[in-house]
Amino acid sequence: MRNLVIVLGDQLSEDASAFAGFDPVQDAVWMAEVDEESTHIISSKQRTTLFLSAMRHFAQDLRTKGWVLHYCEIDSEGNTGTLDGELAKTIERIQPEKLMMTAPGDWRVLQKIRELSRAMNLNLEIRDDTHFFSTVRDFSEHAATRKQLRLEFFYREMRLKNGILMDGKKPVGGAWNFDAENRESFGKKGPGILPQPSRFAPDAITKKVIELVNRRFASHPGSIATFGWPVTRLQALQALDAFIEHRLSNFGRFEDAMWEGEAWLYHSHLSCALNLKLLNPREVVAAASQAYEQGLAPLAAVEGFVRQILGWREFVRGIYWSHMPSYIERNAMKATAPLPSFYWTGQTDMACMRDAIHQTLQHGYAHHIQRLMVTGLYALLLGVSPKEVHSWYLGVYVDAVEWVELPNTLGMSQFADGGLMSSKPYIASGKYIDRMSNHCKGCRFDPAQSTGEAACPFTTLYWDYLDRHADQLAKNPRMLMQLKNLNRLTPAQREVIAIQAKSIKESVRA
Ligand SMILES: Cc1cc2nc3c(=O)[nH]c(=O)nc-3n(C[C@H](O)[C@H](O)[C@H](O)COP(=O)(O)OP(=O)(O)OC[C@H]3O[C@@H](n4cnc5c(N)ncnc54)[C@H](O)[C@@H]3O)c2cc1C
Ligand code: SF4
Repeated sequence: MRNLVIVLGDQLSEDASAFAGFDPVQDAVWMAEVDEESTHIISSKQRTTLFLSAMRHFAQDLRTKGWVLHYCEIDSEGNTGTLDGELAKTIERIQPEKLMMTAPGDWRVLQKIRELSRAMNLNLEIRDDTHFFSTVRDFSEHAATRKQLRLEFFYREMRLKNGILMDGKKPVGGAWNFDAENRESFGKKGPGILPQPSRFAPDAITKKVIELVNRRFASHPGSIATFGWPVTRLQALQALDAFIEHRLSNFGRFEDAMWEGEAWLYHSHLSCALNLKLLNPREVVAAASQAYEQGLAPLAAVEGFVRQILGWREFVRGIYWSHMPSYIERNAMKATAPLPSFYWTGQTDMACMRDAIHQTLQHGYAHHIQRLMVTGLYALLLGVSPKEVHSWYLGVYVDAVEWVELPNTLGMSQFADGGLMSSKPYIASGKYIDRMSNHCKGCRFDPAQSTGEAACPFTTLYWDYLDRHADQLAKNPRMLMQLKNLNRLTPAQREVIAIQAKSIKESVRA
């Protein structure tokens, strides 16, 4: 045995760098399902089902090619429950000359495999992940030339370097960013008839996994009755085609909009396929750019979509790998409250939270604004410990892998990195949610009120947050307007808000 190629649950591509030079005669592949990956944080049933089913489908493809595959099933006898435990067993049995892998997406996993290779005195070759446009080294070079990291500058560099939506050295359409044309709400009339999302009926492999997850992880959150995520490359490609054809043209326009009971809207729902590497971001961005060139989608929509993948997705990965392992410990706002228990059930009177959490538990999905400006915002305003918020996001979403989830949660959403990711905390009162959705119409609270029986908890906590952190935030010029508005409140009003905020926090702790 020459090389043993390690394939993790989020590395399901035959084009992975670890397979370059693979020789089926001398090399073999190793994959393992282990309890630890679903229990080190509590992984929802949707998330675990997606990973296990996609792994089993990928394993089937490798076997069909005739490649030697050492696959450890989660309920096979003697499964140690850990990646390093299973890998050590396989190494002892087959004695490879070398371990080979594509760089993992999780710092914890990288350390485990490195330690094991050292302990077993076995050479480990780690290759760059080619399912990204940039390498972590590219990001470090970019960061080295800047006092402050900002998505916009990184994104422009990425556009130029990769020649995407470019007209020579200038951006196509004369602007890098079309935000002014994007981000509408659905207005009073609502979204009307929405395109159907791509959902895939479970086949025999997925059905077996669903039965396994329902049995083995019965107490884990969420349900899998509606599981329909792509679990093969073919399905992922079908989902990409359907998005380009039916939803991309409205993507930018309604990127931030929300509507009660409508989980899918005009989003792509491709993050899990991208993160499991069923899709390559290059083909996704190329498909969107082509749609623009063929006149199938407007530039504002295509640029908005490309920015998420070529910009944010690469940017957060750079942040993660340049700042781990200390990043996960950051808590710039000194937030220590526990996560309210209704995050695991959706049982709350707040209509916006109820909808976002129910949808999350039902599908393992919520779109960006639901994550940032509903569930994330509430935890931020309440002062929940960033690590607790992180565990929730990493557990409940089907697309959650630490390299992407952690900077989004800890940095963008909780401002726990003190401004490394974002120039200011994303904070707003209930009025923002009212503007972007119809949730408040059916809610017992009133987004315009900050005190009293009908006060919206977001609005109360918004003023309380500003008041509590006023000194810290005053150093940030981008916060001046919000602080100026705070100063318009009388001391008496501020005191009543503080009392009401305290009682919300106490009720959550109870
Ligand atoms: C608190 C919080 C936690 C998040 N956790 C995750 C996570 O675990 N995994 C994850 O992939 N995304 C995460 N995101 C980013 C974003 O919300 C999701 O990528 C997006 O909602 C996925 O749905 P979609 O595929 O329909 O995306 P679309 O709205 O269709 O966007 C297109 C694609 O752009 C990429 N993208 C968009 N925004 C971001 C972003 N901020 N960072 C990285 N990529 C982005 C995704 O690959 C996505 O599929 C998080 C955001 C927040 C605020
Ligand atoms: S009133 Fe407040 S809690 Fe209710 S839906 Fe609106 S923002 Fe959410």
